Amino acid sequence: MSPTWEKVFYFFTFITQGSSFLNPAAYAIMHRRHHAYADTVRDPHSPRYIKNIFEFNKRTFIEYRGLVNQLFHNKIRIADVPRWPTLEKIAELLPVRALFIFFYISIYWIFAPSPWYFFLIPLHILMGPIHGFIVNWFGHLIGYRNFKELKDNSKNTLPVDLLMMGELYQNNHHKTPNNRNFAHRWFEIDLGCLLASFLQKLNVIQLNKGL
Ligand SMILES: [Zn+2]
Repeated sequence: MSPTWEKVFYFFTFITQGSSFLNPAAYAIMHRRHHAYADTVRDPHSPRYIKNIFEFNKRTFIEYRGLVNQLFHNKIRIADVPRWPTLEKIAELLPVRALFIFFYISIYWIFAPSPWYFFLIPLHILMGPIHGFIVNWFGHLIGYRNFKELKDNSKNTLPVDLLMMGELYQNNHHKTPNNRNFAHRWFEIDLGCLLASFLQKLNVIQLNKGL
């Protein structure tokens, strides 16, 4: 991406993730550790070793928070990931997260056709970590494997993954982590990859050779 497009996407990531904004650099470091040590004791989130859902999320949260703190204090560096230090600090402020939560509640308060809809509010507040949990937990626990030779526990959880836009083809992704297309067999569809191709056609992104 050009620096301008990168800023545009970064800003809209902040707006859309809102109360549960995840620092891209911290997440990138955690994700690379996951690939380097997939389903070993050094994996930051492996359902093979952490079998309790609450412990799983707690451990992921602690790992992630530690990385954010290290990044903010320049104790850890990552070169090839977008950074926007000012926005990152703003996104971390508790009043900012609270403002997003207030905004979500207001939308429900005004538009919800029945109070039952209020049960969806926690899902909105925590949508970032919930998405991460679904991919990291189920993607290494339940599903089929196209590449049985892999030593990790990665699975393709949904044969047609519209829900997580291709992220639940973990087995395919672990086989070829640098391939932007997570789909492998004829019935698998990676919407994330299709979207990337669309953005490439619009010249918003350029893909590295071979990806
Ligand atoms: Zn994985």
